[in-house]
Amino acid sequence: MKLDLRALLAGECRTLPFHFALDLPDESNDPGSILYGVRFPSPPEASGEVVNSAGYMRLRLDLSLDFVAPCARCLADVAGTYRFTLEKTVATPEMLDGLDEDKVDDFAVVEDGFLDLDEPAYALLLSEFPSRVLCREDCRGLCPICGTDLNEGSCSCKTSETDPRLSPLAAVLERLREEEKAKTEK
Ligand SMILES: [Zn+2]
Ligand SMILES: [Zn+2]
Repeated sequence: MKLDLRALLAGECRTLPFHFALDLPDESNDPGSILYGVRFPSPPEASGEVVNSAGYMRLRLDLSLDFVAPCARCLADVAGTYRFTLEKTVATPEMLDGLDEDKVDDFAVVEDGFLDLDEPAYALLLSEFPSRVLCREDCRGLCPICGTDLNEGSCSCKTSETDPRLSPLAAVLERLREEEKAKTEK
């Protein structure tokens, strides 16, 4: 959505509220995206306002969304809700003349009287959405050998977890721990 700021820039009003549904590119099939496997039952909603205080303009944008994403360990669907917020100073290209490229990213830039809100809303979503969603903090995940959901039951596969004494590293740690214990007991 492009917000028409001309009335605000002309001083005809101080506040411009907005509300729109964010039109997202579908990245659920892109393994390189943080939104891989993530579905949105309804488009995320952006709302907020641009306020002009004596020529100093601020954008506040709230993004609220419902999502369904696979648990990073057991792949079960996890449904949830998030609300992310951003605040930026609004500037015209002339105000940013001579500023470093990376500093320009801190501003929302008005072009020809209009402010593009899709780009900052989408950037907010990508920066705040967690890279891993878990069905619960202690999800035990799937057995890497047979695929059994270990939240629902155990399997008979022999993984290093079933007998940590078989691991050489674990044996070293065990010996160190015993030596440490022997020291403190003296
Ligand atoms: Zn899980
Ligand atoms: Zn198994």
